[in-house]
Amino acid sequence: MNKNEKASGSLIKILGISLALIFITGIGVMASNARLTNVKIILSNDYEMTVLTSKTKVSEILEENHISLTSEEVVSPNIDTEITENKTIHIFNKEDYNGEIAEKEAAITKEEILSSYGTIVEKLVTEQVIIPFETITKEATGEGTKQNRIVQNGIDGLKEVTYKIKYQNEVEIERIEISSNIIKEPVNKIVEVRTIQVTSRGSQERVATTNPALTASTTLAKTVQGITPTVKTFNTSAYCACIKCCGKTNGITASGAKATQWYTVAAGSGYKIGTVIYIPALKDKPNGGWFIVQDRGGAISNSKLDIYMNSHTSALQYGRKTLEAYVYEF
Ligand SMILES: [Zn+2]
Repeated sequence: MNKNEKASGSLIKILGISLALIFITGIGVMASNARLTNVKIILSNDYEMTVLTSKTKVSEILEENHISLTSEEVVSPNIDTEITENKTIHIFNKEDYNGEIAEKEAAITKEEILSSYGTIVEKLVTEQVIIPFETITKEATGEGTKQNRIVQNGIDGLKEVTYKIKYQNEVEIERIEISSNIIKEPVNKIVEVRTIQVTSRGSQERVATTNPALTASTTLAKTVQGITPTVKTFNTSAYCACIKCCGKTNGITASGAKATQWYTVAAGSGYKIGTVIYIPALKDKPNGGWFIVQDRGGAISNSKLDIYMNSHTSALQYGRKTLEAYVYEF
């Protein structure tokens, strides 16, 4: 064997090995090809792309394609989902997504209606219906001790209403009022509201030499910056919206507003609803010690202030304190 023969022999060997390698690699590729699937990805800007992937989990497919969600985006199906039948990943802007969900739900509802299609039965039904009474307020003037007075109690009325009702599969699907006869008229509740109070408040008040509203930062304080306050010492206590404290539990104050902790205060009738009160000793409390008279109470004289709390426990914990307060009146 000469040199040339040797060389060509080696070349054949190399070619052979290379071919074998290519062949083996090819099988490898083919083998993994079998597990590759096409997945359509729709981005939030509606751009569509189809990617070939061996991954099945939504998060992995997105990661493989260098797609990351912004905080404004959501993905459907969920990031942890294994993609099986529906090979589409849809990225939405959160706002659009909610719309899509609503559409889907609407579609389901229509399908449900169609699938539940059954004979419609119509019936005439007469029912007695309560007519709730209305509450009417009347203004009362002059001096008085009671804030509001019920002049007439309300009584519910009653009417007989005939409806044409459509039932499908024994479920009411439509109700039309055909006629209505009043059996008993309701009686309005009449409440007399006293708007002017001429009540002595005693002489322990003095005009303040400083105006804390000028340096305070709460919204309430800012509304009274132009008013010169008076200073007075009050016996303060606390209450909550419970039966024990209020005789009712709805938390609605005499002003009509819902009571707010560290903001609502009940005062005697000598202080108008809307009077702003600053208690320096409570300046570390949530509203900076600024309160507004929103409520009344049977036992609340002009020398008392009752501070609203969210719980009876808090009210009890507050106890009683004699505190100086700045009073801002309009
Ligand atoms: Zn209570």
